[in-house]
Amino acid sequence: MQQLIIDTIRIYSLKNMYQPYNVEVDILRLDEIHPVISGNKWFKLKEYLHEAEREGKKNILTFGGAWSNHILATAAACNLTNFNSIGIVRGEKAQNLSATLEDVLKLKMKLFFTERSSYAQKKVPEEVWHQYKQEETYIIPEGGYGLAGCSGAYDIGNYYSKKYSHVITACGTGTTFAGLVKAATNNEKLIGISVLKNHLGLTTDINQLLPLYLQNQFTIMNDFHFGGYAKITKELISFMNSYYLQTSIPTDIVYTGKMFYAVDQLIKINHLPANSQILIIHTGGLQGNRSLPKGTLIF
Ligand SMILES: *Cc1c(COP(=O)(O)O)cnc(C)c1O
Repeated sequence: MQQLIIDTIRIYSLKNMYQPYNVEVDILRLDEIHPVISGNKWFKLKEYLHEAEREGKKNILTFGGAWSNHILATAAACNLTNFNSIGIVRGEKAQNLSATLEDVLKLKMKLFFTERSSYAQKKVPEEVWHQYKQEETYIIPEGGYGLAGCSGAYDIGNYYSKKYSHVITACGTGTTFAGLVKAATNNEKLIGISVLKNHLGLTTDINQLLPLYLQNQFTIMNDFHFGGYAKITKELISFMNSYYLQTSIPTDIVYTGKMFYAVDQLIKINHLPANSQILIIHTGGLQGNRSLPKGTLIF
């Protein structure tokens, strides 16, 4: 199988920015690894693709919304590895497709639109099976949640040294975070920032991907969702703009903007002890910012 090979991933130091709080912050720039398969998504996908290959499947099917990083990354990864890709998209087909779905079509993914109620049940529309053989099709769960996703994300741990006291990342399904928990040493505290509102099952979902001895050996913060998944506020946008001015780090409105905001707050309220060495995982997702009116963000 064709591989997206990643030699190194840049670690960017925020230098003296948080010196008044006696903490050091570095950022693992997964947002820079690939123009399309950015961030954590390649890591989460790769073991699924290996499994599909071992099982002799020809088609990869997955689910997502109109601006989904996961759908786009799946389309790009399948294009690279010569799988046919099938995307089940939440909601009716819009008159104008999102920029994400336009990209996905260029990558030769076949799209099927489903109304929200059948999407919620992850029903595969019948017409898919008129065009593709079910036994030749490998289904990747929504958001890449699952053990294979977790073991792929575990490899992110190879790209930073074990000197950090805290490793922080944004959580959607929690799959990436679970991989990082598995990769952690005893000295690392893992903090996940949930971007969903009332996602009370997140801790359980993460635990299900972990061996017993690692279960609950992490912290999830639930108060930084800004109103819910993909919801934005003026405060979030203005934070993202001023953070960019200060650091040159671009963030996305769904995941990393909220996560960087959370880290900034946690440091400023002294939630992280003096002398902490913090690593923030920048999981990418910048393409989703194209859903905003032009000029909203300064980057
Ligand atoms: C998908 C995504 C996440 C969430 O990853 P999970 O493994 O589902 O928790 C975080 N950040 C970005 C940018 C993403 O696209």
